[in-house]
Amino acid sequence: MIKKIDHLGIAVRSLDEAVPYYEKALGLKCEHREEVPSQKVRTAFFAVGEVHLELLEPTHPESPIAKFLEKNPSGGIHHIAFCSDNVETQLKQAAGAGVRLINEKPFEGAAGKLVAFLHPKSTFGVLTEICMSKESV
Ligand code: ZN
Repeated sequence: MIKKIDHLGIAVRSLDEAVPYYEKALGLKCEHREEVPSQKVRTAFFAVGEVHLELLEPTHPESPIAKFLEKNPSGGIHHIAFCSDNVETQLKQAAGAGVRLINEKPFEGAAGKLVAFLHPKSTFGVLTEICMSKESV
């Protein structure tokens, strides 16, 4: 079952350039930075109430974020992540409803969360992540 929106993923060319905007212009605090080799990205997380912003900078030209930035040179909202109490069940439900899955099985994403993505061609253009924090397993 989906519990809430966990985070919004935002593609940026450079964390070092984008993080000061969120800190200085919006007054948010960067809580956490982490490199996620499986996705070829560096991330920076900001808490906005219960929802987080996940800034994503590509670390490799083959990164999905690098490809996104080719199409959207200014960067922008890349994905929406829903927090579920069970990613596998959530994937089965989506697949049963005819949604194309990018990941048949959840994998370990940033902050030690189990994550999986639904294909934007099946989700009306919104790349959708389902995630579950390890503590709730
Ligand atoms: Zn994400």
